[in-house]
Amino acid sequence: MLALRVRLAAVTMNCQQLTMLSELAAIELKTPSLPEESFPPAERSGTRMASAEPSESQIRSPAGIAAGTVHEAEPSEPILRLTGIRKHYGDVVALDGVDLSLARGEFLAILGPSGSGKTTTLRIVGGFVAPDSGRIELSGRDVTALRANRRDVNTVFQSYALFPHMTVRDNVGYGLKVKRVSRAERNARISEALALVQLSHAGDRRPGELSGGMQQRVALARALVNRPSVLLLDEPLGALDRKLRDEMQLELREMQSQLGMTFMYVTHDQEEALGMSDRLVVMREGRIEQSGLPAAVYDNPATLWVAGFVGASNRLTGTVRELGELVRMECDFGSIVGAKPHGELRVGERATAVLRPEHVAITDERPASEHNSVRVQIQEVLNVGSQLRCVAFTPGGLKLSVWQSRIDGRTSVHSGEEAWLSWSPEPVHVYPDRDERASQSPPS
Ligand code: ADP
Ligand code: MG
Repeated sequence: MLALRVRLAAVTMNCQQLTMLSELAAIELKTPSLPEESFPPAERSGTRMASAEPSESQIRSPAGIAAGTVHEAEPSEPILRLTGIRKHYGDVVALDGVDLSLARGEFLAILGPSGSGKTTTLRIVGGFVAPDSGRIELSGRDVTALRANRRDVNTVFQSYALFPHMTVRDNVGYGLKVKRVSRAERNARISEALALVQLSHAGDRRPGELSGGMQQRVALARALVNRPSVLLLDEPLGALDRKLRDEMQLELREMQSQLGMTFMYVTHDQEEALGMSDRLVVMREGRIEQSGLPAAVYDNPATLWVAGFVGASNRLTGTVRELGELVRMECDFGSIVGAKPHGELRVGERATAVLRPEHVAITDERPASEHNSVRVQIQEVLNVGSQLRCVAFTPGGLKLSVWQSRIDGRTSVHSGEEAWLSWSPEPVHVYPDRDERASQSPPS
């Protein structure tokens, strides 16, 4: 029956969607239904009716995740903990020792370039891929050897993987039907999930009749209907256009905090990761390069690579001349002082100073300080309302980006003009060039 449906669906789906679909079908086919306690508090006031019979999971695994023990854990205990996760595919090391914890109710974003291991991490948590080594705990319980269907997590895929021949209600309720949840309970839970994603009016339509944003919400409702402890989202907004993405970002964030759900959200879009998450994990080549509050990662990148990958930045290379309260470097256009040293800097060695465009000022007059200024020629000016965004070149040909508030600085800058750029030492980070791994440029 299921195989037939998957085959039917394949007629209108591409290969990647089909893989997602079979993963989804596998999990929905056997995911144990969860008891009342597992439902996030804000959802409990819904109209759902209690199931008359004990669920399969309550009979088979009284001490298991589905028996409600996970939700009675201490709040300080992480809901999800990964320890020393490694995974390789042939010669490719997809994950090279990942350690990661999620607090209950946390919105964690995993950001990284394509191929850095984000999806593999999610699949390992979801139980679709087994790690070569390492341990996965959900609410203190080791689930490493547990199959996907026995884990209290659900995944929302980028491609939605909806059944095109079924109505929205049937898509959302499919997993519950397979699990033989009673019709009355099913209907109540479907209605509740659709109300959460504001699609109550579209229950009888088919996916093909819906916009991209609506389809995304159906996929979300289908995951929410299972009330997972942790929701895994793999670039869920990747297929949407910019405007819809912005709207959905706000909606998703609101829903997550309202329901008190735990989100593990994969994206390669830094604005999305910085704007939505409580905590940001930056992945690179199968490892976590940095983890922290989004603002902390942006303001204090641990490595030169993170500084280049998260946010826009200017790179100024030179030789370290003094190490003290401030690091002083000599560049070909002059002297730079920076207040934020990283790694092991040594006098006489090469280093790179990183400076965000918003920390650079444009003036007509030569700045008083002998450090941190350069005469440039403005090449391009973009007026983006509150900001002037300029591209400038030093006489030596170094390209610098400058984002200047129109209130604080010069109110007009024109291409072709000459001007002075200057900046204070406080936001200047200095990284040694010696560290091979850290000094490589991130892919653009
Ligand atoms: P991301 O989601 O960050 O783009 P992935 O986790 O999908 O990265 O992939 C990490 C690395 O593992 C990549 O080099 C990718 O090619 C490889 N990889 C992932 N899945 C497979 C697979 N099923 N077979 C072979 N290689 C894979
Ligand atoms: Mg991926």
